[in-house]
Amino acid sequence: MINDPEMLTGMVLNGAHGIYDVHTDNGVLRCTLRGKLKKSFVQSQATRSLAKTNSRFNKLLHQSKMKREAAEQAVPSRLSVGDYVKLRQLDAKTGMIEEILPRQSELSRRDTGSTDKKVMQQTLLANLDQAVLVFATTQPDPHFSMLDRYLAICESAEIHPLICLNKADLPHEPYVEQNAELYTRLGYEVIWSSVITGQGIETLRNLLKGHMTLFTGPSGVGKSSLVNAIEPGMALKTGLISSATGKGRHTTTSSQLYPLTGGGWLADSAGIRALAAWNIAPEDLASCFVEFRPYLGQCTYSDCTHVDEEGCAILQAVNDGAIDERRHKSYVRILLGEER
Ligand code: GDP
Ligand code: ZN
Repeated sequence: MINDPEMLTGMVLNGAHGIYDVHTDNGVLRCTLRGKLKKSFVQSQATRSLAKTNSRFNKLLHQSKMKREAAEQAVPSRLSVGDYVKLRQLDAKTGMIEEILPRQSELSRRDTGSTDKKVMQQTLLANLDQAVLVFATTQPDPHFSMLDRYLAICESAEIHPLICLNKADLPHEPYVEQNAELYTRLGYEVIWSSVITGQGIETLRNLLKGHMTLFTGPSGVGKSSLVNAIEPGMALKTGLISSATGKGRHTTTSSQLYPLTGGGWLADSAGIRALAAWNIAPEDLASCFVEFRPYLGQCTYSDCTHVDEEGCAILQAVNDGAIDERRHKSYVRILLGEER
């Protein structure tokens, strides 16, 4: 393969100062961007920082997504971690990125002071396609309203969610099983796991193959234990054990990805923060609750917010028992911007 000018496809694991580590079939290659790409990259960066100076609201962090159809046509002008690229291998360890391939999804930060999305949008992580939402069956007790929020974010960002109920070895309250059944009925996959008994670990390991995944959830639920059970050493690499690595590491906003031995990649804690900060437009929130979807468009008022309006088809479905009352409460809580 050395000196073979063959084009490879790869995925960007990390990048700084124009140097990118790209995961390919021939191993990880340290790459630079071809001149033409670099030029458009530098230009968009310069425009961005100029606009940033002019923006009075540049501190707010939030995300926006491209619609899948648009993303499929749009060729990104800036390279991001998670991007699939075409590259030319230069020698055993290096390569030159020739082309950025269209994105399937992106988590990005946008400066709210600007109306020009193209200029102001900075992608933090491209092509994340799966999130494992980890909660403990107990210690700490699961807050299912928080899970509802994560599920809504995943629906909005078009990231496939997996629900993981960890510490299945510990005795827990009946409401945990009841809610697990609710989520299963809604079509979500629920994995019961334990790092003590090993339950669910192999299932999780298999579900990660071929995907770019991040683990998220409250602290103390066992995320780092799980990730380490799936692949030793991964918790430290992905920043899930943060106190041990010191504070300096995650001052940057862009994420890093780590290849798994069994195939697929794990996103680090910067990716977790980017997902957690995702904002759903209020008018889109109802459609992020999958069981609301059949009723949308059936309310008396076309601008119904489904909170307390007369003739609301969703409230009717809650009354009829077709929609779980607790899920509707979660919806209202998120809509009104209440934390958890
Ligand atoms: P994180 O903050 O989500 O990364 O959680 P940790 O992985 O640090 O785990 C928090 C605590 O829960 C630690 O004391 C772990 O040993 C414990 N723990 C993690 N997974 C399990 C599990 O499956 N069963 C039990 N009983 N304890 C667990
Ligand atoms: Zn309504």
